[in-house]
Order: sequence, then structure tokens, then C-alpha cells
Amino acid sequence: MAVVGIARSLHSYHHFTLWRAFFEELGWQVVLSSRTDRQTVEQGVKLAPAELCLPVKVFLGQVARLLEQVDYVFVPRLVCRRLKGDFYFGCPKAIALPDLVRAIFPEQKGRILELVIDQQIQRDEVGFVRCAKALGVDRQCAQGAFQQAKKAEAEAGKLRVHGPSPADCFPPERLNSKPGAGRGKIGVIGHPYLIYDEHISLNLLRMIAELEIEPVIPGIGEEELIQEAGRALNWYYELELIAGARKLVREAQVDGLLLVSSFACGTAPVVNELIRREVAVRTGLPMLTLLFDEHSGETGLRTRLESFADLIRSRK
Ligand code: SF4
Repeated sequence: MAVVGIARSLHSYHHFTLWRAFFEELGWQVVLSSRTDRQTVEQGVKLAPAELCLPVKVFLGQVARLLEQVDYVFVPRLVCRRLKGDFYFGCPKAIALPDLVRAIFPEQKGRILELVIDQQIQRDEVGFVRCAKALGVDRQCAQGAFQQAKKAEAEAGKLRVHGPSPADCFPPERLNSKPGAGRGKIGVIGHPYLIYDEHISLNLLRMIAELEIEPVIPGIGEEELIQEAGRALNWYYELELIAGARKLVREAQVDGLLLVSSFACGTAPVVNELIRREVAVRTGLPMLTLLFDEHSGETGLRTRLESFADLIRSRK
């Protein structure tokens, strides 16, 4: 039985249920990489070109670790998704991920298992069938596994009341939360691979909770909301952030917004500015932008959060 490794980073936070179910249906064992730690980051930083964002560096660190443990490492290429006739793209770094991994680990090319999702040119099923075919699985068997995996994904989605949350697949460590009843709510907007990775985000959610403020995070994969946000951008996962900010302001009555991004992210400057104009300026809500990289420190983060929490309380 082949063992396939999936990195606990980037879009695993969105699609882990589907990917895992697909490989397990094929009878393969799936290993999820361990949580990000200092060693993962150091290894990723050493391997990656300096201009890459931190989440991609972390991904590379996790791939390096998985290559020591498994037969194959799964690397998706998320090019394009279609929503009711319109096409939305992944971030350029997510599109180039398999090329990047092969360039960095040239000796391991044969162990990189690529999945192409590009709804401009093919149904997802075709991408999954090709991925499995690379390991000698016949078409019929791969199609069956894909159908079962889609069912598993739909079932997982049904259990969630407010839309799927990556915390279901990747429960963060205990938040040590003191519920901030009446003391304020902060909407936290950012890619799940930043917010839910406690090492990258320096335990941001726990820190907010310790200030007796409730962090509120939008769900993921809520396609109607993403489509509603539709015309603003052509980047699928970035539209999700705009949709999430709108939803929090509309439904969760947050007292402020925290935008969480990575240094060297190519899309964040555009997305954050759109959210600032669309949501923060229109509603008058205070907004704080946090940029994380491998040099970020807890003390600076805590100071900024404390000031933001004071601002929010002073407005109540
Ligand atoms: S969206 Fe930004 S943070 Fe995410 S992979 Fe792309 S460049 Fe990196």
C-alpha cells in the first residue's frame, strides 16, 4: 500500500477532506504532515527563494519533512475554478507549486504527485483520474474514488452550521479562551493557512482571546457568498476573504476587523485595500493589518493587539 503525504499548509485547509478521502478510497494510506514548528520554517526558508511568501516557505519545509516519511508527496496545482459561468484563479504561487517543488527537489521528481484543478479546461474528475493514473490506477477505479470522495466532502460540509471551518480538519490547540462577553468582537480575515497555523500566526487567536475579545472567523467554501463578491477580483481564494469580511460586518456585528496577511504576498495589497474601501471605510469600523514573516515576534504583535483592543473598548 502506497503512503501519500499531504502538507498541513496552503489549501489543505480548504480541501483536505476531499483529498484524503480520494486517496483512502484508492486504498492508500494518507499522512498529514505535523504542525508547523521552528524547524519547518527554518528548513523552508533555507530551501525557498527569498522573495516567496511565508506560507509557501512553510509548505516547502513540510514537503521536505514528508519526503523522509512517505512514498509520495501530494502537490496540487490550483489554477481555476468556475462559479456559474465565471472563472476565478488561484494565486500565481499556488498555480506554480508543483513546478517549484520539482525545481527545489530535482532528485524527487518521481515522488511528487500532482493534481491539476483547472475548470477552464477540464472537470475536476479528470484531474483526479490523471493524478491516480500516474501511479498505475485505472480510470474506472479512480473515477469511483473521486465520486466517493466528493460524497465525503459534502457530508463533512453538512455537519457545519455556519459553513465549513478548517478547524474541523485541523483543530487548533486549546485557545485558552476567556470568552469576552460584552467586551468586544474582532473579525479576523485572512487565509486559513495563516490564521489557523499557530506557529506562523504566533498564536494570534489565543492572544486575542486572552485580551477578553472574541475572535470571529468567517467560514470557508461558501460559494454563494464568494460569487456575490464576484466582480471585485478574479482570484478565487481572495474573493473568499472579501466575502468573509462582508459577512462578518453584516451578520456578526463585529467591533473591528483584523486583516492577516503574509509579507511578500502578491495578492494581499490589493485585497486588503479593497476590504478597507468596501467594508472599513463604509462602516467606519476600525481596521488593523498584520503582516507575518519568519522574523515576526510575539512581543510586537501583543503590543499592537493590546492597542487595537483598547481602541475597540473605547468605542463601546
Ligand atoms: S495568496 Fe499570498 S500568502 Fe497565499 S500563497 Fe499566494 S502569495 Fe502566498
